[in-house]
Amino acid sequence: MEPIDILKQYFGYDTFREGQRPLIDSVLKGRDVLGIMPTGAGKSMCFQIPALMMEGITLVISPLISLMKDQVGALNQAGVHAAFLNSSLTMGQYVKALRLAKEGRYKIIYVAPERLETEGFLEFALSENVHISFLAVDEAHCVSQWGQDFRPSYLKIMEFLKKLPYRPVVGAYTATATEDVRDDIMDILELQNPYVMTTGFDRENLYFAVKKPVDKYKELVHYLKDREKKFSGSSGIIYCLTRKNVEDICYRLRKEGFSVTRYHAGLSDEERKENQEDFIYDRRQIMVATNAFGMGIDKSDVRFVIHYNMPKNMESYYQEAGRAGRDGEPAECILYYEPMDVRTNRFFIENGEDNEELDEFTRQLVKERDIERLKQMTFYCFTSECLRHYILKYFGENSSGYCGNCLNCMTQFEEVDITNEARAIIHCMDANRMNYGVSTIIDILRGAKNQKILSKGLNQNPEYGTLSQITVARLRQIIQELMYQGYLELSGDQYPVIQTTRKSAEFQQNNRTLVMKLAKEKEQEEVSGRKQKRGSRKKAGAAAMLSEKDLELFETLRVLRREFAEEEKVPPYMIFSDKTLALMSAAHPANLEEMLRISGVGEFKLQKYGERFLQVICR
Ligand code: ADP
Ligand code: ZN
Repeated sequence: MEPIDILKQYFGYDTFREGQRPLIDSVLKGRDVLGIMPTGAGKSMCFQIPALMMEGITLVISPLISLMKDQVGALNQAGVHAAFLNSSLTMGQYVKALRLAKEGRYKIIYVAPERLETEGFLEFALSENVHISFLAVDEAHCVSQWGQDFRPSYLKIMEFLKKLPYRPVVGAYTATATEDVRDDIMDILELQNPYVMTTGFDRENLYFAVKKPVDKYKELVHYLKDREKKFSGSSGIIYCLTRKNVEDICYRLRKEGFSVTRYHAGLSDEERKENQEDFIYDRRQIMVATNAFGMGIDKSDVRFVIHYNMPKNMESYYQEAGRAGRDGEPAECILYYEPMDVRTNRFFIENGEDNEELDEFTRQLVKERDIERLKQMTFYCFTSECLRHYILKYFGENSSGYCGNCLNCMTQFEEVDITNEARAIIHCMDANRMNYGVSTIIDILRGAKNQKILSKGLNQNPEYGTLSQITVARLRQIIQELMYQGYLELSGDQYPVIQTTRKSAEFQQNNRTLVMKLAKEKEQEEVSGRKQKRGSRKKAGAAAMLSEKDLELFETLRVLRREFAEEEKVPPYMIFSDKTLALMSAAHPANLEEMLRISGVGEFKLQKYGERFLQVICR
């Protein structure tokens, strides 16, 4: 059997995705590999398929219990004998799993790194009839101290390998790898002449947008209602910066009748687990959460991720937003920006407790780096270039600069002359004896008469009241643009203040004009209206192509899937994905043979569920 046959037989897919085939082939030839692929690209297939084809056992090292559970669940659904060994098992279960493993019952075993060195596990690994032919390290960036998720227990992998009398093929897989991290992975895991595959970071099926609503909550409700009208029952995550926000939004949405649940570090373990499962098993549609939610959640049919607050850097943003659309179907990533978020994040950076073990010098460096990252994140919210282009550029990748699937690409901009405003702002700041925050500068320019302005004598500023006819919102926009273009910069430890730069000094001395791009408000509405009518957005989801009647069938199949899921205690998407159900609804397979041709239907699932689904389709 060839890899492609395994792909069809077990997983029901017809073609490999970018990068999968060469990574699989290399392992089969006995060569170490390093696979760097974005979330949702299909990394697991890259080690699961060789595992099924090689003699002996494959160990998969994975950092999180939930990840292991998810992947082992999916494998068992596909008819592959797999197991996991981690601290979620009772002693009895653990011993039993090891015994079955020794008897050769499992082709694939997921292990937590801290288990590798335990006596029981070593005894198993070293027993005579056990041969570990392949060791796959998932989330391999966890070995690197440079990464965000360093796990000291990952260093145990090498110690373990050295205890084996032979060396298995080693594969490392990750979605995040800067050069430092990549080098670390190769060094620390001692990969031998590895085949390195880096696929692009782009996730074509994701639509990106940044919005600056006056009333975020209203906008959110509007979005959710609109969505429900167009595609009922889709899952989504709403990320908030603080627990309080999570509580608040969740409470309000629930009162409005939405199917929501919540997740943050302040809840009991029990409630977190329950809420997470409600979401994964489609018992609740919307998850409102802090960034504590999501690591290791493999739910592949998340259709939207809304950031109710701006996260602290692009790394976090792309990781969190990337939890949408792992199944490759269209999904939306929308960020709501408000200036307050910058301050909150800044506060977290200044007062962060994460870095307590670092010495003062390093801590200062880390802080500066984090502030720089926050700045790049803020710029994402203000750029008028293609958002995908901005993201890819941030991660060091080129792109055409026009994707046609982000809000900026779909918005018409007009250039607005802001020369006079810019000169007034800079002049105003230079005339002050010290630096102030954005709101104070705006107060001066608009001639506010509040206590702070008067008591500090800021009404003496030569620019006091000179821009009184311009709205606060517009002034904020202009100041942001000036920061974006390097005319102003943020500084200050305790309270963020803005200051002028060399570039602004030069600007004041020449007579250049300054323009900024602003969305044409009306046009924007029209563009988004048009896009829905003509469907000009790239690929609509498989379900969106269905006729009214097939859509009914699709909904019925989803109900049936739900029943199976409840019976088997696995998430519905593990039975069949939405895409597979949509393809079934459109193709109306008349028999099992025709059903097997549908992407996502493997032989095992065909046997298990085929008849029941056919019955409904042929009714
Ligand atoms: P990653 O670990 O890279 O984030 P996964 O391995 O979880 O990604 O795969 C994401 C989704 O893509 C899963 O639902 C998986 O079944 C699907 N997938 C993987 N490979 C293929 C393929 N060749 N064709 C179609 N779907 C695939
Ligand atoms: Zn774009």
